[in-house]
Amino acid sequence: MSALTIAQQVSALHQYFASNKTRSLDWRKEQLTRLKGLITDNEDKIYQALKQDLGKSEQESWVSEVGYLTGDIDHSLKHLHKWSKPRSIATPMVAQPGKSFVQPEPLGTVLIIGAWNYPFQLLLAPLIAAIAAGNCALLKPSELAGATSSLVAKLIPQYLDNQAIAVVEGGVEETTEVLKQRFDHILYTGGEAVGKTVMKAAAEHLTPVTLELGGKSPCVVASDCDLAVTAARIVWSKWMNAGQTCVAPDYILVEKGFAPHLIEAIKTKLQDFYGQDPQQSPDYGRIINDRHFARLSQYLEGQQVVYGGQQEAGERYLAPTLVMAPEPDSALMKEEIFGPILPIVTLDKIDQALDFINQRPKPLALYLYTGSAATEQLLLEDTSAGSVCINDGMMFMANPDLPFGGVGNSGMGHYHGRWGFDTFSHLKAVMKRSTWFDVNWRYPPFNSKKLKMLKWVK
Ligand code: NAD
Repeated sequence: MSALTIAQQVSALHQYFASNKTRSLDWRKEQLTRLKGLITDNEDKIYQALKQDLGKSEQESWVSEVGYLTGDIDHSLKHLHKWSKPRSIATPMVAQPGKSFVQPEPLGTVLIIGAWNYPFQLLLAPLIAAIAAGNCALLKPSELAGATSSLVAKLIPQYLDNQAIAVVEGGVEETTEVLKQRFDHILYTGGEAVGKTVMKAAAEHLTPVTLELGGKSPCVVASDCDLAVTAARIVWSKWMNAGQTCVAPDYILVEKGFAPHLIEAIKTKLQDFYGQDPQQSPDYGRIINDRHFARLSQYLEGQQVVYGGQQEAGERYLAPTLVMAPEPDSALMKEEIFGPILPIVTLDKIDQALDFINQRPKPLALYLYTGSAATEQLLLEDTSAGSVCINDGMMFMANPDLPFGGVGNSGMGHYHGRWGFDTFSHLKAVMKRSTWFDVNWRYPPFNSKKLKMLKWVK
């Protein structure tokens, strides 16, 4: 799409929003139902595209993309009426007789920029929230997941209201052009550096942003955890999508004496899940492209690999890999890994995990495996993270009533369920006063008696 047509496209979306068509609950419900049809009618094509882009298995694609999205649509359809109703608020004595409420209203035309690792889910989950809230939307899928990007660009116009929802495909050049336009909100999913670019562009138009970024999500394993379940859940959450998950555990923090037990348990689970040779497993994914493969391969240079490490560049295959005691200032421990390498950082005492976490940027997710309520409380009270999951990895994503988003360097704002509805709504404050009673204390001419009465009712 040329620069001119991107500008025209955005202008057409703004005009359509002004027609008020998208405000009606019937329109929103119809679009959400059609979006569900888009997904269910084309399930096999979606699986094929995800296999082509990331070597994802059908089950993984269902859990993290297709099933996730249809569940999100059902949840939104079920609650839409309630979410969109005026929300009653108490009115203070000074404003009596009167009533107050919050009236959610759509923002207008929003931009949704997706990332490549869950290329279908990360583009369409924000769209569900944007439609539920009654907006027009422009979608920009990630060019790195090319098969999914073209499938989305082909299907959206076939199923959804073309005047309200549009797709622009492309990379940096097209996104830069898109970002020159004025939107009423931008939700961006991706890395920190581009997040800054998006925020700068948005500032030109004073457009609010939701930035769904990443970072290094620590996983603290205390020696009083349930070892077998802990290992299974770490392996599931780390090696899904070959570790290319924003909320995957990035590294483990564990006491020295317990580390060998944990490593053995993780190895056992890896073999249970992916067999002796994960390269042959249909359930194990591949790295998105050669650049990311080379980046991950470099992380392993000079590291003490205690399991895995096998690579085949032609296939972009990197085995599930465990690295023991990496140097804190190595690239592996400074950059977000976003791949199938799990470093094990050992501590003398598990309490040292708090300092280790707090000395680094605030993570998107933080995991703790423990049987102790006191350890749990300590971590919850003394650290900060976008989300915390105790005794599991990324299962918190399965609860649509929990907000999803980062804090500090891991992002700003949130979505999922009603949180997404609210992100794409303006929560308009409304007060309605009655006129049958009108005390004159606030009106000039002022005197000490009026002031005394005001102080009394405040
Ligand atoms: P990416 O390369 O797919 O980029 C994301 C989007 O930004 C794409 O649509 C891309 O076209 C666009 N883009 C890239 N460069 C640009 C530029 N210079 N100007 C404007 N737009 C540009 O994805 P990525 O950044 O490699 O994604 C990986 C990161 O995303 C990781 O840090 C990961 O943790 C994070 N992530 C976060 C979430 C979340 O929900 N919080 C989900 C997935 C990924």
